[in-house]
Amino acid sequence: SPGGASVQNAMLLEPDKDNGWRIPFNNHEGGCGAAMRAMCIGLRFPYPCQLDTLIQVSIESGRMTHHHPTGYLGALVSALFTAYAVNGKPPWQWGKGLMEVLPEAKKYIVQAGYFVEENLEHWSYFQDQWERYLKLRGILDGKSAPTFPKPYDVKERDQFYTSVSYSGWGGSSGHDAPMIAYDAILAAGDSWKELAHRAFFHGGDSDSTAAIAGCWWGVMHGFKGVSPSNYEKLEYRNRLEEVARALYSLGSKEDTVIAL
Ligand code: ADP
Repeated sequence: SPGGASVQNAMLLEPDKDNGWRIPFNNHEGGCGAAMRAMCIGLRFPYPCQLDTLIQVSIESGRMTHHHPTGYLGALVSALFTAYAVNGKPPWQWGKGLMEVLPEAKKYIVQAGYFVEENLEHWSYFQDQWERYLKLRGILDGKSAPTFPKPYDVKERDQFYTSVSYSGWGGSSGHDAPMIAYDAILAAGDSWKELAHRAFFHGGDSDSTAAIAGCWWGVMHGFKGVSPSNYEKLEYRNRLEEVARALYSLGSKEDTVIAL
């Protein structure tokens, strides 16, 4: 379900013109639309030697519709955590990885030279929110297992999701959609049902957090535990699977060339 920024800004893109893929900075483009569609970038550039490309492509594709750090850094997280999942990195280490990648992303923004001042001025919200979250779960060091409040049931989770949101709608921004998906992945282990309870069924922007969490799950566990009724007759299923395989095999081939 694409939101306002995604739909309106996609209409502004003029792919046949020089720079027709770029839109100006906008203070209201911190929504999660860029984060929701960026997981495939992690499939295409999953290897550590491709990190710079993953950063650039996720940021630039993100800011084609969401030219605000809170929006396009959401795309970076979705792509980066997908790449981590491909590499079998344990989920509790992903957050620390993001914290290490953010300074590189900032360097890229400066180097790209497009609305640099505005982007740097609004940079800290995303970074602060993520740092606070990782501290809360005790995983900022990338070594410890996550801790969750007790109880942390439907009501408590909804309160938490609201508390990390920008305007009261948990999961609707670029920082909190991947954060809620990540929170669910951390706790779900290999239980699809648990993932569903935490990432798919809540009072916030649940389709966004579900899309992201479901993608990361798929990379790690495939269809394990998923009811066939959820995917057997999925519209465009064959096309989606073919594209995902093609993206992944392109990334792998490049890696072989680099390794050689
Ligand atoms: P999309 O779903 O395409 O990202 P929307 O325009 O529908 O776009 O925005 C979704 C959400 O993004 C809204 O809930 C809004 O509060 C939030 N949002 C807009 N600007 C910002 C911002 N600067 N920082 C954080 N969230 C933002």
